[in-house]
Amino acid sequence: MRIYVSVDMEGIAGVALREQLQRGQSAYEEARYLLTQEVNAVVDALASFGVKDIVVKDAHGGGYNFIADSLHPAAVYVMGSTPLDKRFPGLERGFDGAFLMGYHAMASTFGAVRDHTMSSAQYRGVKLNGQPIGEIGLDSLLFGLNGVPVIMVSGDDKACQEAEELLPGVTIYATKTGLSRHAALMKAPQRVRSELRGAVQKALARVGQAAPFCITSPYEVVIQFNSSDWADARSYDGVDSERLDAVTARYRSDDLVKVLTRAI
Ligand SMILES: [Zn+2]
Repeated sequence: MRIYVSVDMEGIAGVALREQLQRGQSAYEEARYLLTQEVNAVVDALASFGVKDIVVKDAHGGGYNFIADSLHPAAVYVMGSTPLDKRFPGLERGFDGAFLMGYHAMASTFGAVRDHTMSSAQYRGVKLNGQPIGEIGLDSLLFGLNGVPVIMVSGDDKACQEAEELLPGVTIYATKTGLSRHAALMKAPQRVRSELRGAVQKALARVGQAAPFCITSPYEVVIQFNSSDWADARSYDGVDSERLDAVTARYRSDDLVKVLTRAI
């Protein structure tokens, strides 16, 4: 069995502060330790349930957050930044399912830890074909383009709720309850690492039954920016890309990766 794991940092147990989320900040080293330990718990569970081929992508920031020398030897790891059209390198060789670990809710979600969509600074919200969408949805679509269903999502309770609404039957695991953008009611990381084992087992039981997440073309992406500065900084051709108002732009294409690359 082959499983692809994409890992973000905001939804990892023990992580809630902005000082934890960026290299060079005061609490970053602690956060990457917590991240690496939680990844290892999932890889260990996957290996113990017989998954022989495990790829783990570091999907936070520049993609270089794991403590390399502490990583579980049963997986291989994608580290460093990759462009959106190659966001999950190696995916094309075929996988039975994908996990989104440590994810966060979409921009403008109330009471969610570090809610954002791709960039906290730039975007207030992103809609795809009229529906609000965040990174859980966007990454599920990218996996879906390759025929791979997302079968497990972990993160705060708001991220889990978003995943359940989008991906019926997905296994969710809440590492914490969001209280505000930078506060949460936390489960102890050690408890999370042991409880994740049961979630992994439950998720793997749906391999072969879960359907890949797909939205059919044509695609229309509407971006709401946090300020007109961001909208001014772009150029628009008036056909495939249009400025709708001071803080809103619309992008269209029949190709999902193309429209996302241009819009986000
Ligand atoms: Zn992140």
